[in-house]
Amino acid sequence: MILSVLLIGTVFFFFLSCRKTDPETKTEFIFGTTCSITLYSEYSQDTFTQVFSRVREIENKMSVTIESSEVSEINRMAGVNAVTVTSETFNLITTALGIAEETEGALDITVGPLVSEWGIGSENAHVPPKHKIEKLLEHVDYRKVVLDADNQTVFLPEKGMRIDLGAIAKGYAGDQAVMFLRKSGVKSGIIDFGGNIIVFGTKQTKEPWKVGIQQPDSNRGSYFGILGLAEGAVVSSGTYERYFMKDGIRFHHIIDPSTGFPVRNNVDSVTIVAGSGTSADGYSTAVFVLGLERGIQFVENKTDLEAVFVTNEKNVYLTKGLKDSFTQTKAEYPIASFE
Ligand code: AMP
Ligand code: MG
Repeated sequence: MILSVLLIGTVFFFFLSCRKTDPETKTEFIFGTTCSITLYSEYSQDTFTQVFSRVREIENKMSVTIESSEVSEINRMAGVNAVTVTSETFNLITTALGIAEETEGALDITVGPLVSEWGIGSENAHVPPKHKIEKLLEHVDYRKVVLDADNQTVFLPEKGMRIDLGAIAKGYAGDQAVMFLRKSGVKSGIIDFGGNIIVFGTKQTKEPWKVGIQQPDSNRGSYFGILGLAEGAVVSSGTYERYFMKDGIRFHHIIDPSTGFPVRNNVDSVTIVAGSGTSADGYSTAVFVLGLERGIQFVENKTDLEAVFVTNEKNVYLTKGLKDSFTQTKAEYPIASFE
């Protein structure tokens, strides 16, 4: 009996620690979405367990829906006290405020009060009365966040202020997953956190990775085009992610910090290609708010970013750096240009 338990235990342990060389995908529900990781070689079952627990650790620090998170504590202490946080939370907030500065507040993590009032994606989703939105907007301004780098504290100086890292945390978690996997010796893989994609390493065939870009009017998994890339992140922000319909209007989850309403422009989705998931995620939300003309101009001025825009007329606009790596796969989504 003992021998058979030992034997099973040994076989089980061998199975767990054995490093595999064929691809495998595992999925967990984190950040309110499905998070999948595909590993190609030099990994074991332990690798999956450990990498997902690293991702959960980040969720537990940064999610606003987790009461014990550092971000929830910052929000609870708004108008009361500065809150000491871990360096990764402090650094990600610093990065987000930097993108806010660069995009003149298109990305603004202090939209928290509006995000929770609109409740998009939750059972409470509704159109708030205009006076309420105006009241909440008084507390939305990324320039008010007080950071103290020496003591690693974050302070929201007004009661009613609230930060939300939903626009950037998944991208950061993806980067951290890749960093963990590389350190564990994994040679290549794909991170897909709710459609935020990061590819790393080289495929066995040595061909570039091919990443499908989500069709904004369709279920997850339908693509209007494919991007070939060596390594890096491909992240989309769109009206299709979380929304509700009322009176024929789509109220989606990206809030324009200057109006307090879901962004209304002619863009259905923006996909950013960048070296890191943090950048791709942060800028995808920001550039969506900027809209087509300002957004393309912004991305063209940044050497480390490229973008694909889809308008509500299904026209596709590409930044110059993507002209050779993008392949159109649906006739209804033609490539357009300003020229
Ligand atoms: P993403 O899907 O990355 O574009 O992020 C959208 C999420 O970020 C929303 O669900 C909100 O939690 C939050 N958010 C919405 N609008 C903004 C904004 N203008 N700036 C920063 N975060 C936002
Ligand atoms: Mg984003």
